[in-house]
Amino acid sequence: MINHLITQKNWQTQLSDAITSVDELLSILQLQSVRSQVYIPKYFELRVPRAFVAKMVVGDANDPLLKQVLPDKQEQEVVIGYVADPLGENSQNPTKGLLHKYQSRVLLTITGACAIHCRYCFRQHFDYSANMPTADAQADIIAYITANPQINEVILSGGDPLSVSNRRLFAWLDILEGIAQLTTIRLHTRLPIVIPARLDNDLLDRLSQSRCAIVMVIHCNHANEIDTLTAEALQRAWSAGITMLNQAVLLKGINDSTATQVALSERLFGAGVLPYYLHVLDKVSGAAHFDHDEQVAIELYWSLLTVLPGYLVPKLVRELTNRPFKVPVDIYKHR
Ligand SMILES: *Cc1c(COP(=O)(O)O)cnc(C)c1O
Ligand code: SF4
Repeated sequence: MINHLITQKNWQTQLSDAITSVDELLSILQLQSVRSQVYIPKYFELRVPRAFVAKMVVGDANDPLLKQVLPDKQEQEVVIGYVADPLGENSQNPTKGLLHKYQSRVLLTITGACAIHCRYCFRQHFDYSANMPTADAQADIIAYITANPQINEVILSGGDPLSVSNRRLFAWLDILEGIAQLTTIRLHTRLPIVIPARLDNDLLDRLSQSRCAIVMVIHCNHANEIDTLTAEALQRAWSAGITMLNQAVLLKGINDSTATQVALSERLFGAGVLPYYLHVLDKVSGAAHFDHDEQVAIELYWSLLTVLPGYLVPKLVRELTNRPFKVPVDIYKHR
């Protein structure tokens, strides 16, 4: 098996060694037959680490992990209602890199880079180069937070905040821990799923020593994304005292059945992670083929409530511009 060799490499090697060639990916998965359905995007190109590919089923064109990353010709269709910046984020940055929409917490983008390119990503058209904190922006960020005493939590986001080196990440942690009003630092990251080796001892040691509560919200959409090695890495983070949560996106043909959602919740729980949010898709251009009617989400949700214990049911939410929280989907609608 290739899996063993791949996952032994250090995470930075794995990050730079990600697959960016459609033909290489299809050849590894023995799926050259679907080549005509694939297109080669000019930007937001194919990107997928080999450790994630190793969790795909060879020869299965409908593999739920593959469908999240393989550029499909349907992305090129223009669909009314699907736009480049569905959340209006481009206009909500008080200072470069900072996004303040919710009262007590701010999003801080420390990198635009992701280890993987998810085809449904709502930030796929976001201009990171214009929104990255520069060296002198650090002072502005600290000033903004201290001028807003209701902020007690900073969410490192991106891009993926764990795609930067420990040295750079720890420098940000030092800065944030120095701001007395902050009680919590949160990381929104898909790295532990796509390159589990990212949860190395240096990182976990540093996080467990923080004076702030550390919350890690991973992003995992399907139980197959958590193999034994991934589960072990997540469990180590949990054992290090980190609160581990998951957010998923409801994706047509990928995780839209009761069985897949139940399997996801149970696999997460087994790895020390609780389900947090299940997002209905943000209507970003190029992703309409992943979207479902809200009614489908509501029906699915009723069955999850029936089957799962309450603590394994994620909150079903939709993000709306100009709302100061993620809005619960009204599950009594149409009932
Ligand atoms: C999602 C999000 C948060 C975090 O919201 P929680 O409900 O606390 O998880 C904060 N700020 C912005 C801009 C967000 O999009
Ligand atoms: S990891 Fe998150 S931010 Fe990065 S491409 Fe995927 S959905 Fe988008």
